[in-house]
Amino acid sequence: MCAANGYKYLVDAYAFLCGGGDALDAALKVVQGPENDPNDESVGLGGHPNEAGAVELDACCMHGPTRTAGSVGSVRNIKNVSLLANAVRLHTGHVMLVGEGAEEFAVAQGFQRENLLTDKSRKEWLLWKETHSDWWGPSVSSPEWRTRFRSARDEEWQERLDRMHQVAGTIGIAAELREDAIRAVVFPPTGTIHCSALKQNGEMSGCTTTSGLAWKIPGRVGDSPLIGAGCYTDQDVGSAGATGNGEENIRVVGAHTIVENMRHGMSPLDAGMDALKRIVRNFDADKERLQFVDMVYYILRKDGAYAGVSLWEGYGDENRPHQVAVHDGSKRLEKTVALYQGVSQSWPPVKRLK
Ligand code: ASP
Repeated sequence: MCAANGYKYLVDAYAFLCGGGDALDAALKVVQGPENDPNDESVGLGGHPNEAGAVELDACCMHGPTRTAGSVGSVRNIKNVSLLANAVRLHTGHVMLVGEGAEEFAVAQGFQRENLLTDKSRKEWLLWKETHSDWWGPSVSSPEWRTRFRSARDEEWQERLDRMHQVAGTIGIAAELREDAIRAVVFPPTGTIHCSALKQNGEMSGCTTTSGLAWKIPGRVGDSPLIGAGCYTDQDVGSAGATGNGEENIRVVGAHTIVENMRHGMSPLDAGMDALKRIVRNFDADKERLQFVDMVYYILRKDGAYAGVSLWEGYGDENRPHQVAVHDGSKRLEKTVALYQGVSQSWPPVKRLK
């Protein structure tokens, strides 16, 4: 099972698994799809860059049968960081490499350096930079969070949107792409892909790969490459992964929490709901703040039972529902079970586009 953006890559991976392929290799086949796709703006090539305009990728993987793990963080110029995380697992005595060291290791392993910024993601970054950049300041978990509402209260919001349209024109964003570009600026796209795989003989593995939060501060590492947060697999129990606000997931070590919950007898659904409730607890169940937190967990138990759970039913102003992609002989997208009804909003807060 995997995030919805892996849907179209499940058939090949499932056939590979049924043919006796390794569970981690199958999961890596799935996540390489979005990594290679320039139109997936949350992973690999074409992923949204950081605030300096550089694409920085994070990934990790866990191989159940050998109980080994690999991880990379803040990697530039290398597209398939899931494979790079696997190379760290296979070819080093370490678990995690970051930044330049990880890039140099990649080149030594035969990975090609390439420009990961597409023309589209570069122009959207320029639009964000000129009209909206504001990652600095208190986070949603800070006692000072309300200070970030200044822009949401801005009575000149419409003027600001008009300016974004005008700047988008000057930057060279085609008229038909301007709405989407402004949406990417105002509601930074979330994405990421996690995939957990289970072989018929019970062997399991998982991996997660991402370009992280759009427009992040350079060097920011989210939950995705952190073993236990963005991904965790225990061959005796099951596998889990996450997409959404990495900072909040790190604070509850989501994937590990879920696997441990299953170890102690919880169903995949209850195990995921418990992790979500830990996030809720960190905010004293304050929905006014929780509306800015987006989280989805992908959970697969060793016996094949699974669940996709989310804090909210969807994200953004388009009512985009959260879904998980599953293939167990038949391929399908399923809505997640949401703890709260409604959709989450991007942080820092802004007014709706319409
Ligand atoms: N979890 C990712 C991160 O925080 C982002 C995402 O899933 O959208 O980097």
